[in-house]
Amino acid sequence: MELVFLGTSAGAPTVFRGLPSVALRFDDGSICLLDCGEGTQRQMMRCNVSFMSVERIIISHFHCDHHMGLSGLLQTMNLNNREKSIEIIGPKGTKELVEHVLEPGYFRLGFDIIVYEAGDKDTLDLGKYTIKTIENNHCKNSLSFCIEEPMRRGKFNLQRAKELGIPEGPSYRKLQNGESIVWNGKRIEPDAVLGPQRRGRKICYSGDTAYFEPLSSLAEESDVLIHEATFSEEERSGAETFKHSTATDAAKIAMLAHAKKLFLTHISGRYGAGKELEREARKIFPNTTVAEDFMRYDVRYPE
Ligand SMILES: [Zn+2]
Ligand SMILES: [Zn+2]
Repeated sequence: MELVFLGTSAGAPTVFRGLPSVALRFDDGSICLLDCGEGTQRQMMRCNVSFMSVERIIISHFHCDHHMGLSGLLQTMNLNNREKSIEIIGPKGTKELVEHVLEPGYFRLGFDIIVYEAGDKDTLDLGKYTIKTIENNHCKNSLSFCIEEPMRRGKFNLQRAKELGIPEGPSYRKLQNGESIVWNGKRIEPDAVLGPQRRGRKICYSGDTAYFEPLSSLAEESDVLIHEATFSEEERSGAETFKHSTATDAAKIAMLAHAKKLFLTHISGRYGAGKELEREARKIFPNTTVAEDFMRYDVRYPE
């Protein structure tokens, strides 16, 4: 699973940062976009993220910096003869948003858009992964969410397989794939040679939010927490007025969640490369990186 930061700015773009969007590429090549700020499609082209592989777009809330890239992206998909449907998930009001995007009727879509409006503490089991949401305190209908893969099979215990006298080869593969085999007239279930189930990977995305402690439960044990840090602690009053987080707030959530890795994003133009935010967060949560546009991160399995 790979994360590609397409836009890491807050509110308005800067010369170096586009508006919020993160591409999450799964092992099968399909992509889920987390937000779709203005200019997202061009950012995708610049770092080789295929928009035709996008199967799902999650919009965190309706401030323009998070969804203005939708109409352009949909039109380009259409110009490229997309036929495969696309899913758009967002808070209550997403259906209306998508209707507005399509309403002028300047182009007729050759593919279906399936919209799902998620509420507070929603769970969407999509097979390949589960999306869980909570409403945060940024504005009305503003979501934070996590994406979590299902549990995986346990590790293959080679020694145990040998003790059972099973010969190496196709039988091992079958057992590893969770199928039972018959050996020496005895049926052997995969459980006999597989360790306990292991959890899949988990990504949590704060969207825009002020410090919001319930987010740490949603993000519990995340491999990656992507958290907004629009302000530094010095500008706390700004964070409070506009219901955003400071780098310290983000780091506290990462610490409480026992996350493995924290990326700060939604960086205001006033912080440039954001190194001051990174230093601030690292005092609380050392494994912090300020995201930059086009930064990539390989999300490995926990063990
Ligand atoms: Zn924003
Ligand atoms: Zn916002």
